[in-house]
Amino acid sequence: MAGLLAFLLTSLVLGFVAWKLVGLYIDRAVSTAELAAGLCGILGWLSLLALTWGTPWGYGIFGLTLAGAASLPWAGRRLDGLARRRLWEQDLEECRRALEFDPNNWGAYERMGEIYEQMGRWDEAIETYQRVLALKGVDAGLTSRLNHLLKKKRLREAGLVECHHCGAEVPQGTSACPQCGGFL
Ligand SMILES: [Zn+2]
Repeated sequence: MAGLLAFLLTSLVLGFVAWKLVGLYIDRAVSTAELAAGLCGILGWLSLLALTWGTPWGYGIFGLTLAGAASLPWAGRRLDGLARRRLWEQDLEECRRALEFDPNNWGAYERMGEIYEQMGRWDEAIETYQRVLALKGVDAGLTSRLNHLLKKKRLREAGLVECHHCGAEVPQGTSACPQCGGFL
C-alpha cells in the first residue's frame, strides 16, 4: 500500500515535469530531441523506482524524487528564464537573416532593439533604435522610447533610480522617497 502511494506520488511529480517539458516544446523553447531525452529520462527514473522498490536503493531514489519535487517551483522559474532567453536568441537570429536579405529592413532592426531592451542589453538596444530612426525617419513613439531608455541607462550608471510616484531621482537602495515619501 505504501509502495503504491509512493509510486503514485512519484508519477505525479514526474508527470508535472513532463507537462512542463511539453509546454516548453510547444513554445519552441525545447527541441524535439531534448523533449525525447527528457521523457526517456522520466520513464527511466520511474522504472528504476519500480525495480528497486523495497530495497534501500528504492528509498534513496524515492527521497531524491521528493527533494526534486520540493525544488520544482525554483526549477520551473529557472527553466522559464532559460526558455525566454532561448526564444529571444532565435528571434534575433531571424532578424539577422532578414537583414542579410535586406539591410534596410528597419522593421527587423526595431524588433532587435526591443529584444535587446528586454534582455537588459541597453547599449545594443540604443544603438539599434538609433539605426531604425536613421533608416525610417521621424517616429515619435520610437524617439520617446529611445529617450526613456537613455534616461534609464544614465540613472543606472549614476547609481540612481526614478521614484515611480513623483519622478524624483533617488539613490539605489532607498526605501522611501525623500521628495514625496512614497514607498519605493
Ligand atoms: Zn517620490
